[in-house]
Amino acid sequence: MNRIEPETPLERLKSVGRQRGRLLAGKGLATVEDLLYRLPFRYEDRSNVKPLSALVVGETATVIGEIQAAQSFQARRSRVRLFEARVRDESGAALVMKWFHGDYLQGILERGKRVAFYGKVELDSYSGQVCILHPEYELLDDDQDSQLHLGRIVPIYEALGRLTTRQLRKLVHGCLEAMPELDDPLPETVRRRMGFPNRIEALWQTHFPAPGADLQALKSFRSPGQVRLIFEEFFFLECGLALKRQKARAARGIAFCLNDRARNKIKQVLPFKPTMAQKRVLKEIAGDMAQPAPMNRLLQGDVGSGKTIVALEAAVIALENDYQVAVMAPTEILAAQHFLYFKRLLEPAGYVVVLLTGSMSAADKKKFRRLIAEGLAHVVIGTHAVISDNVAFQRLGFIVIDEQHRFGVMQRWRLLQKGEHPDVLVMTATPIPRTLALTLYGELDVSVIDELPPGRSPIVTRKLPFADEEKVFAFIRRQVQAGQQVYVVCPLIEESETKQVAAAQDVYDRLAKKVFPDLEVGLLHGRLPTADKEAVMQAFTSNKVGVLVSTTVIEVGVDVPNATVMLIVHAESFGLSQLHQLRGRVGRGAERSYCLLMCGETNPTAEERIRTMVETQDGFRIADVDLQLRGPGEFFGTKQSGLPTFRVADVIRDREMLELARGEATAFVQNPPGKRVLVELVDYIRNKWQRRYGLVQVG
Ligand code: ADP
Ligand code: MG
Repeated sequence: MNRIEPETPLERLKSVGRQRGRLLAGKGLATVEDLLYRLPFRYEDRSNVKPLSALVVGETATVIGEIQAAQSFQARRSRVRLFEARVRDESGAALVMKWFHGDYLQGILERGKRVAFYGKVELDSYSGQVCILHPEYELLDDDQDSQLHLGRIVPIYEALGRLTTRQLRKLVHGCLEAMPELDDPLPETVRRRMGFPNRIEALWQTHFPAPGADLQALKSFRSPGQVRLIFEEFFFLECGLALKRQKARAARGIAFCLNDRARNKIKQVLPFKPTMAQKRVLKEIAGDMAQPAPMNRLLQGDVGSGKTIVALEAAVIALENDYQVAVMAPTEILAAQHFLYFKRLLEPAGYVVVLLTGSMSAADKKKFRRLIAEGLAHVVIGTHAVISDNVAFQRLGFIVIDEQHRFGVMQRWRLLQKGEHPDVLVMTATPIPRTLALTLYGELDVSVIDELPPGRSPIVTRKLPFADEEKVFAFIRRQVQAGQQVYVVCPLIEESETKQVAAAQDVYDRLAKKVFPDLEVGLLHGRLPTADKEAVMQAFTSNKVGVLVSTTVIEVGVDVPNATVMLIVHAESFGLSQLHQLRGRVGRGAERSYCLLMCGETNPTAEERIRTMVETQDGFRIADVDLQLRGPGEFFGTKQSGLPTFRVADVIRDREMLELARGEATAFVQNPPGKRVLVELVDYIRNKWQRRYGLVQVG
């Protein structure tokens, strides 16, 4: 191969060619670098292959042998077709490899071929035969590259279209050989301090480990080469974020003045004594607000930790400086609730609070928009309508975004554009594991409320079978008769909202007519007209309704301290974070509260979710388990969440390295060893990483 560069398109390589090059490009591998950063997902130690005679049932092993016989046939007692290959090795022992529906292997795994197999040795309970079921295999024809595939620790790649692991191995090897040197974009100071190999060494070690390399380390992605490549990926992302933060800090925003008048006003509107945690985060927020740079702060706090009042206190600072405040909530119910809360506390202090939602009449919207534009409405609370309609503020200075995780990144930016660099406070009850918060909200500063308001006792959480329904209903009746209130959440049906509403209606009918004809039962779901939703919520808030049957529309934010029971029907159908959010609707007052998880049949994952709920109420632990169960993609729900896709790193597996990289990156950007080094780094990030990581305004 001629000399190549990381940027060389793969289709230019002779060994790839146009057609395969296109195929690879379609899979996201356009250049040599793309290929080299697609690491082996596991390794086989073929310097030390197990003889067939030494295999034990239950172990997973690599074996190499010659196929003695292979055939495809109809299995007895079933319609399934089977493919079997009998393999013998130098030890003289033989083993059968089996595939269901394996007809396609005819002509590939033929008699006389030498093949490496990898899989778990099992006892076939039908035939009593020892075999490996569906092993991975690799044909070992005697080409001149055989020292690449045998007698060493061999990298295994995930196949790419028609390209096998063996072909990929050859291709990667060829590329590395044709690249005797390679620039290393990781700053030398950092590389030295961390004791990392340079880039080309790291790639060699990772793709073709030296004899005697630590196989265990390789398998857990902790060999020096792998660590360096993982670190590198985090480091550039974190540098990008650090540069972005630096730039944001340099922008001119509003320096709010926190004087005695504002302090007194806050005292005057506070309905209770804030907790230490609330005081601390308010101080952090007020500190930001006093700075001329625009605030970008995330307020994290578990459900019920009391974020709203902190936002309200901060809002008073802005209001006392003659600026307008916008509060955005993800659902109409939550917006309406915030509206009542802010209005109750702020109107006596002389501020005008308005609600703006999508389902309002056009005339009302128009009226409120005028008030906002003229600066006569001081606090504007709403749903997406606040940003999607042509709302112009007279002097917007402070924005609160509640339940931030419900909004896409784009929406956040659109609201920002409505003011002259207003201060922004985003709030979330999804307790994101710290390292992930750093990545996802990398451009934000983070405050955490880590303490619940006083007088809360743990919520008694139980898993119950449907057989216990009668007991549960009797318990609910006693609670309501004692003056408390109850939520009944209906089974989650994700595929259709219509079905979901119908299910809720069914539960409601049954409870209202048959089970609790003597109690007031209400129904709440997303399809109700706004006015009805508000009426139901109002009735529940004022305890005119004792039992509220609902879909997950009450999941976020709803705050009725008198409610003490959360019954979730078919709790196994809900996600873990969702269950935690739902549970957070109770336990908000002084009375003992209960979360009853009524379950049907569960699979192991659902079982794990339920067990976690019963075992802990720590939102951070719950988020951690949830993340492990679902993986980051699903956890954050699509690309919109802003979580970058990594090619080498894995945010769960490598989380401690993310912290490390963040520390190094921040220090590097703040205090680079020289101006030129920083300029080079900015250039590199701009060229290579900006688009992938959405670092829109780096440098
Ligand atoms: P979340 O953080 O989930 O949004 P909320 O702001 O809705 O929590 O607060 C939960 C409940 O706790 C509300 O009823 C609120 O009035 C109450 N609360 C918040 N802070 C305190 C406090 N320091 N003392 C007493 N009650 C509080
Ligand atoms: Mg809230």
